[in-house]
Amino acid sequence: MIENSMFEEEPDVVDLAKESPSYPIDSDDVVYEPRSSRLLVRGLGENDLDEDEEDYESSARLLGMSFMNRSSNQRSAASSYTRQQHSESCSKPSTKTMVVGVVVLVLVASLLMVFYFLLGCTFTTAGCQKTNSTMDRIYPFSTNGELFPWAELRLPLSVHPVHYNISLHPNLTLMNFQGSVSILVQVLHETKNIVLHSSDMNISKATFEGKEVHFMEYKPWQQIAIKFSEDLKQGQYVLNINYMANLSSSYDGFYNSSYVDTNGTKRVLAATQFEPLAARKAFPCFDEPAFKSTFTIKMTRESKYLSLSNMPKVKTTDLKNGLQEDEFAESVKMSTYLVAFIVADFISVSNNVSKTTVSVYAVPDKKEQVQYALDTACKLLDFYNTFFENDYPLSKLDLVAIPDFLAGAMENWGLITFRETTLLVGSNSSSIDKRLVTSVIAHELAHQWFGNLVTMRWWNDLWLNEGFATYMQYMSIETVFSGLDIDTEFLNVRFKALAKDALNSSHPVSTFVSTPEQVEEMFDSVSYEKGASILLMLNATLTDGEFRKGVIEYLQKYNLSNTESEDLWNSLSQVSKQNLSVSEMMNTWTVHKGFPLVTVKRSGTQVTLMQEHFLLNAENSTDDSSLWHIPLTYVTDKCSVLSSCKQVFHLKDKTATLKLPDQVKWLKFNFRSDGFYMVHYDEEGWKDLIGALKEDVNVLTCKDRAALINNIFALCRSGKVFFRQVLNLMDYIRNETETAPLTEALFQLGQIYRLLDKRSELNLASRMTSYIEDHFGSLMESQSWDLETSVSKMTLRSALLEMACSLNISNCTTQAKHLFDQWFTSNKTSQIPSDLMRTVFKVAAQTDEGWGKLLDMYKYSINDPEKRKTLEALASTQDVRKIIWILQKSLDGSEIQTQEFPLVINTVCKNFAGYLYAWDFVKENWEKITQKFPVGSFAIQSIIMSATSQFSTKTHLMEAQNFFTSLGTKGSQMRIVQEAIETIKLNMRWMENNLDILQHWL
Ligand SMILES: [Zn+2]
Repeated sequence: MIENSMFEEEPDVVDLAKESPSYPIDSDDVVYEPRSSRLLVRGLGENDLDEDEEDYESSARLLGMSFMNRSSNQRSAASSYTRQQHSESCSKPSTKTMVVGVVVLVLVASLLMVFYFLLGCTFTTAGCQKTNSTMDRIYPFSTNGELFPWAELRLPLSVHPVHYNISLHPNLTLMNFQGSVSILVQVLHETKNIVLHSSDMNISKATFEGKEVHFMEYKPWQQIAIKFSEDLKQGQYVLNINYMANLSSSYDGFYNSSYVDTNGTKRVLAATQFEPLAARKAFPCFDEPAFKSTFTIKMTRESKYLSLSNMPKVKTTDLKNGLQEDEFAESVKMSTYLVAFIVADFISVSNNVSKTTVSVYAVPDKKEQVQYALDTACKLLDFYNTFFENDYPLSKLDLVAIPDFLAGAMENWGLITFRETTLLVGSNSSSIDKRLVTSVIAHELAHQWFGNLVTMRWWNDLWLNEGFATYMQYMSIETVFSGLDIDTEFLNVRFKALAKDALNSSHPVSTFVSTPEQVEEMFDSVSYEKGASILLMLNATLTDGEFRKGVIEYLQKYNLSNTESEDLWNSLSQVSKQNLSVSEMMNTWTVHKGFPLVTVKRSGTQVTLMQEHFLLNAENSTDDSSLWHIPLTYVTDKCSVLSSCKQVFHLKDKTATLKLPDQVKWLKFNFRSDGFYMVHYDEEGWKDLIGALKEDVNVLTCKDRAALINNIFALCRSGKVFFRQVLNLMDYIRNETETAPLTEALFQLGQIYRLLDKRSELNLASRMTSYIEDHFGSLMESQSWDLETSVSKMTLRSALLEMACSLNISNCTTQAKHLFDQWFTSNKTSQIPSDLMRTVFKVAAQTDEGWGKLLDMYKYSINDPEKRKTLEALASTQDVRKIIWILQKSLDGSEIQTQEFPLVINTVCKNFAGYLYAWDFVKENWEKITQKFPVGSFAIQSIIMSATSQFSTKTHLMEAQNFFTSLGTKGSQMRIVQEAIETIKLNMRWMENNLDILQHWL
């Protein structure tokens, strides 16, 4: 057993054996099996668990994180594809185990004999010593009762798609669509089967080379197969399939979306969201990223709608009944998850960049809000064309705002889809609203190269897409939109990634995935944020533009093909002049889970360094042997702020000694927090740094100051330092004026306040309020409520004032009420600065009258950033009836779009009044929630963490454990469940260790 098996859909496999008794069959098919696609079959040998082990496994899933860690240090790039025998399965068995074991053995032996004699198959029984023996495949039964000829989640590699001709006719009245797909396939190796994906559709007819053929379907794995009596020889063939399907009512596949226009009329549209595994819901296809192909798409529509797809439209043909058919140009070679089409009544604006026409589409009512996105997309496209020295290859690029859309945005090649809130901004929107739109556009445009042009081979390397797009998003904005203070945002993102990755439930950047749920789970902080963070660290380590050179080389070399992490490292190694093996260094960051803590002890000019895996909860961990190649950076009191001050030391071993050339007063490691690690100093080291800061905050850059705050809170949470030491550092904060350290301090203190509040530690919560008022009060009072243009100042004042109003510090709520009343009575002619809107609305939402006004505004607003802030305010009410109403409405989608449900849960859970109701609501409505949001998806991750992350008692721990266990196949094995349980335990421990200390020191 290896670590990822805990996320396997084992129950499915058991069900498969139960529901459709399967028999191994002889197959002369050449099986070009992807290394990661082995089917785990329980009860037939190599993956047997004895009962004790099973008990241990299931309780470990909920209780301990050690289970995950036991073998994570065995992982290597190669072994991540290979199931490994768990060493402990050979440990001395208990009597109970032995009795059960004998019974199981007898059963297994009987089964083996039956199979052996009846079917002439042989089995390997090497027991504990056996490693990875090949087992005969267990073929399932298809829907019509015939034996399905394929037994893997991944498709066989003997047949590749070359080109798809897809014709679709969505009916927006009946909410269904007719489809026909003609696939030119290349048979690479002789085979009797063609296996591909298809889900939720009725196939009426399949023909192969013009002749009708019989097909089979195996629904659990969303596969169909055509079985031939003779081997298909190598060569090209045409497979044609006609089908009918409903437009999806969730957020993936070819789905229906609707909105109400300003006249109160409901309008409908159809759009797609295929990543990761939903192209198969719109047309039968080889739905894996490595099966790249070209596509020609035709779309039939009513004349009142327009249709869009990846490529430009080449012609429109009039059909009978007033229908029209649009045909789009043949696409570039691409993966299925990037195919997209839309039928809607949108308006657009366009502009040209180089040879590409860039257009932004939205619903007609929002035509005033598209210009910023158009200008931004044009500037960024120009930047990327230059940066990558490789022009965007299509002649058009559409950016479309979809009224009901779950993800933030999706990078479909040539047809990027967005939520309205991530693409549309009004002329009076603040730079902070614009920064969000800019970030999302920058991210999706970067994908046109990283993801679309060069694609990860399989979802285990999703970070190659997402980590890179995230990194490029920050890098491009810093260059093109320097006023947006994106640097501070990226710093916060790194802190967030460190917090997630410090949990036992985290996973390596490059992780084995197989089931659809595991693929969904890859869309998480590790792939995106840690991925981006380690790229920043690498770029900061390389010199002379080597990073860019390597990236350009990589894009050229793998143009239109698929890659693995190693391919990127090799391209970067080739351009590195400093004798640095990028591959050797970076593998330690993608293969190990977590990150290192570097402990620094200085004695004169002698500095001892030690690295260890940093875990917030190291108690149950046995994973202490991971070593990272850390490009450690540091500055000293002699020179500490400029880039030229940075010194580098490569720490590869567990310990090392660094000899300084001169005596120094203090050392600060991880310059500007560019590296993905934390640093702990000995008592003297911390004392020297704190002393230096108290004298003059400017001895360190503001990022270094923010990182010290971030690191010391994390060290305290892990039990490595006392809270008293945290307060020691925080003493300097009265002299602080910069956004990054102040917002980090507020965030950390706010988290502690919320935990105390939820535990009804009223006395301590009020002392925490006094502490915050004492340290930040004068800054809070000095903030202006007028229009502000500096993004950095806006970020700071909105954090300060939101905290002040929520804790009722100074006269914040009075000011906010005054501003709201003035704004409302002037019929919105007087302005509330956009960055303060959420704070002001939240204060207004606390009265019946204010809440009612906000609800009216929410219903009729067409200004998306304002609308979202209004919703957050509505969800922040302390009135329980209103809380329940808003939870219900956002889930059923009637008055609040279902896409906002995760945000509503998150907001409700921040407040004492609502968090327990929200938890009950999630439990009671789990079935409905998972119908809307796929198990494992980012939305589900967010819902679970919001609902549980502030529990800190044993009762809540048990309740959460019981609930998650009861989910069975509907979520109990999700990684986020581990994270939730681990977080509650950490909260409990923190409370246990620090309540007395807080009583004493706060
Ligand atoms: Zn992305």
